[in-house]
Amino acid sequence: MRVIDYHMHTYFSGDSQANPREHVLQAIQMNLDEICFTDHRDFDYPIDSFELDIDSYYQEIKQLQEEFQDQIKIKWGIEMGLDLDHEKEINDLINKYPFDFVIGSIHVIHHQEFYYGDFFKGKTKEQAHREFFEETLKCVQTFDCFNVLGHIDYIVRYGPYQDKTVDHRLYQDIIDEIFLTLIKKNKGIEVNTSGYRDLKTCGFPNYEQVQRFYDLGGRIITIGTDSHTSDRVGQHCHEVAKKYQEIGFEDVSTFTQRKRDI
Ligand SMILES: [Zn+2]
Ligand SMILES: [Zn+2]
Repeated sequence: MRVIDYHMHTYFSGDSQANPREHVLQAIQMNLDEICFTDHRDFDYPIDSFELDIDSYYQEIKQLQEEFQDQIKIKWGIEMGLDLDHEKEINDLINKYPFDFVIGSIHVIHHQEFYYGDFFKGKTKEQAHREFFEETLKCVQTFDCFNVLGHIDYIVRYGPYQDKTVDHRLYQDIIDEIFLTLIKKNKGIEVNTSGYRDLKTCGFPNYEQVQRFYDLGGRIITIGTDSHTSDRVGQHCHEVAKKYQEIGFEDVSTFTQRKRDI
């Protein structure tokens, strides 16, 4: 089982100051086999609007690939906000550049984001969570431009509720439909280890859900720290790889020009 970090942000994302070179050095230090940069692009992030400079981002990662080619495999990707209000722009952008890997993430639902809480106004926790999973299902049914679905239940991090935890069983039918759709489309999920900060014992999603994905036939999985600072690169990745092995996965998946490496 290889150990990878396939979800990292740098100063090319609006919410990070991290130097990509520092990420690479930390990844080598952490004994990772491969990494992929996945800076953000959302077409409708209502606040902190920021446009990724894709050309500079590409040039800088290309240089790092060359510089470190004998030490670690480096891929160039993007975390694309999947948003049904911007289907065409999203597909056009992904097709325009030679990304190795695309994470599809739900950050905004009909112009409402989670971080500042708009999405939760006037909803019970159960209503909000159900709507989030239903929208996620619609996105994975609609979009084909991504390789793995990012942080499937990270909505757990947000919301004005004292107990923010997601009770997956309440929505398991929808989550199963999300998994089955991904499997049918030859796509995967990630364990996003930023969840360890909030949930302590697991990432997003928890290992029961990863097991469920495996039992339904899912075999494409990645590991990502969602690092916005270099000290977090590689964190918990070895642990996740071990869990994957226990569940039965033979290896993580890696990608080149959006195709799974054999
Ligand atoms: Zn994200
Ligand atoms: Zn991210």
